[in-house]
Amino acid sequence: MKESITFDVDHVKLNPGIYFAKKQSMNETDTITIDIRMRKPYQDTPLTESEAHTLEHCLATAVRDYIGDNHDIRPIYIGPMGCMTGFYLVIQLNGKVFDSETGKNDEGSKCDESSKYGKDSKCGKSSQAGEDSKYGRLSKDGKVLHVVTDILTNSVIGINNMQEVPAKNKLMCGNYNTLGDMQMVRALAGEINALVKECQSKGAFDIYKLMK
Ligand SMILES: [Zn+2]
Repeated sequence: MKESITFDVDHVKLNPGIYFAKKQSMNETDTITIDIRMRKPYQDTPLTESEAHTLEHCLATAVRDYIGDNHDIRPIYIGPMGCMTGFYLVIQLNGKVFDSETGKNDEGSKCDESSKYGKDSKCGKSSQAGEDSKYGRLSKDGKVLHVVTDILTNSVIGINNMQEVPAKNKLMCGNYNTLGDMQMVRALAGEINALVKECQSKGAFDIYKLMK
C-alpha cells in the first residue's frame, strides 16, 4: 500500500461514511488511516472552523482516553481534513494482532476474544462481491472494522460524558477563541455515531469510488 490515497477518489460520488483509506506496514506494526466522512462534498455544508476545532479537541481526547495504555494500539493522529468534510483517525496497530493480509480475518474467522477490543461486537463479515480494488479488499477486514468501530463508539460515549471542551485555554491551544461548546460537539459526535452504526450493520467499511 504505497500509493497516496484520496486524490484518486472521486469526491463528487463520495457519501458520508466510515472508509478504510490506507494501511502502511513497517516492521511489526501497521498504521491505518480511517476516513470519517461526515459531510458529502459539494452538497452538505462543510464543518465550520469552530466545529472542526472543537471536535478535534474532544475526539482526540476521547480516543486517547479510551485506548489508554493498550500496548497493541497507539493513536497517531485524530483531526479534521483540510476540506472540512470529515476527520481522519490514524492509529498504529501491533501487526501480530492485526494480521490482516494473511486472510486470517476473513469471514468465518474468530475475533480475538482476549483483547479489550474483542469483547462486545461481532466480527465484520466479507461482503460486496465484485469489489476488487485495494479499498474493497481493505474494507473487508473484519478485525480492523471491529477495532475501529469499537474505538469510535466508545469515544462518542466519552465525548457525551465530558463536562467541558478539553484544553480550552490559551496555554494549551493555539486559537482557543474558536472553540465551541459541548452542545455543538455532542451533535457532531452523534453524526459520527450514526455513521458507525451504519458501518456495523453493513459489516464492512464504506468503499471509495475511484476516478476512471
Ligand atoms: Zn485547539
